[in-house]
Amino acid sequence: MVRVRFAPSPTGFLHIGSARTALFNWLFARHEKGVFVFRVEDTDRERSKDEFLQEIISSLKWLGMDWDEGPFYQTKRLDAYRSYAQKLLKEGKAYEAEGTLGGEKAIILSMPKEIMVMEDIVHGKVTFDMNLQKDLVLMKSDGFPAYNFACVIDDDDMKITHVIRGDDHISNTPKQLALYKALGIEPPKFAHIPMILGTDRSRMSKRHGATSISEYRQMGFLPDALVNYISLLGWAPSDDKEVLPIAGIIKEFSLEKVGKTGAVFDINKLTWMNGEYIRAKKTEDLADMIVPGLKREGALNDGFDKGKLAEVVKLFQPRAKTIKELADSAAPFFTDVMEFDAAAVSSILDKDGVKQKLEAVISRFSAIDDFTAPALEECVRKLAAELGLKASELIHPIRVAITGHKVGASLFETVALVGKERSITRLRSALEKARP
Ligand code: GLU
Repeated sequence: MVRVRFAPSPTGFLHIGSARTALFNWLFARHEKGVFVFRVEDTDRERSKDEFLQEIISSLKWLGMDWDEGPFYQTKRLDAYRSYAQKLLKEGKAYEAEGTLGGEKAIILSMPKEIMVMEDIVHGKVTFDMNLQKDLVLMKSDGFPAYNFACVIDDDDMKITHVIRGDDHISNTPKQLALYKALGIEPPKFAHIPMILGTDRSRMSKRHGATSISEYRQMGFLPDALVNYISLLGWAPSDDKEVLPIAGIIKEFSLEKVGKTGAVFDINKLTWMNGEYIRAKKTEDLADMIVPGLKREGALNDGFDKGKLAEVVKLFQPRAKTIKELADSAAPFFTDVMEFDAAAVSSILDKDGVKQKLEAVISRFSAIDDFTAPALEECVRKLAAELGLKASELIHPIRVAITGHKVGASLFETVALVGKERSITRLRSALEKARP
């Protein structure tokens, strides 16, 4: 049975690259009906923090990745590492050395002087000249195991069949192969997946923008869109289909189809895909998603009008690219706190004659009983004709007065949803910014 693991070190937030490593392991496990193990590599006492671990766990759950076994903590398995290290010492395969970190002596493995070969599922045959390898620290003088040692002991104890990880770990593999050999155990299969690159094709880092899953969550990306997008970083289904639900990805996933070269992370493509997922969602579900944020900002209170929220979301669903954008667009329909876009004010409201136009609109809107989009449209077009104006000469200032922005969803539907009273209040307060 296939057994794979995701083994993060909790020394930072879940990075897009690590999330993709977790995802490929999880997809492979689910495709093969195998087991996905979650292991916490927390032996670096200086850099490991519980807050990072909690963030990693919540990001994995948010993305929808569940594990079958674990979390296992390396710091709870120190006895196992110590006894394997003692065994290697006794057999003369390892030796002790004075360390710098603490009281204990470090335990170090001698490297075999030979050529070692790794058969990698992604990279093919890779050979390593072990004459170039330095001896390998197994136990540090602080009494904790080094990464390469704990990793091999755990992969063996946890009966891992496939090690799927970033190809920045290829350089660790010869050391691990030497350890398997010294321990007399069969190594698992390896699949080293290529790094994620920024648009300049250098390794993706903060310089290229947001790198952690939490940041993408805050920016308003949907977990299923993000999973779909990152599954395509280095892998593609046979028909090159891009928008693919998770069940389809699981069904199609195979390590053989993972490419050797780095995959470029393209925020524009992710944003486009997120928009596609927004369009495919039920309006009510999207509305539920934006409620907590809108409440936090004070834009919604407990007794808010659910039907109206659904109407508002429906207005923006065809064009919104993120959940954040949807929430920002919805807020002005429920609150009187308005934010004016300065450029919209100077280019549209602060123009000769706008005050008279808005005054005329206020008096006509006040007389409408049936405050619906068609009635509003008819009213504005009629008024424009009477004043000898193009409809757009009224529509633009109305939009800025009511939404604070130059562009947005259909104006008449927007005004209808903002409602008569609130629309007129906003038009009146815009008079102060308008030029006579
Ligand atoms: N803790 C290592 C990391 O986060 C795991 C590497 C591996 O999968 O072997 O990079």
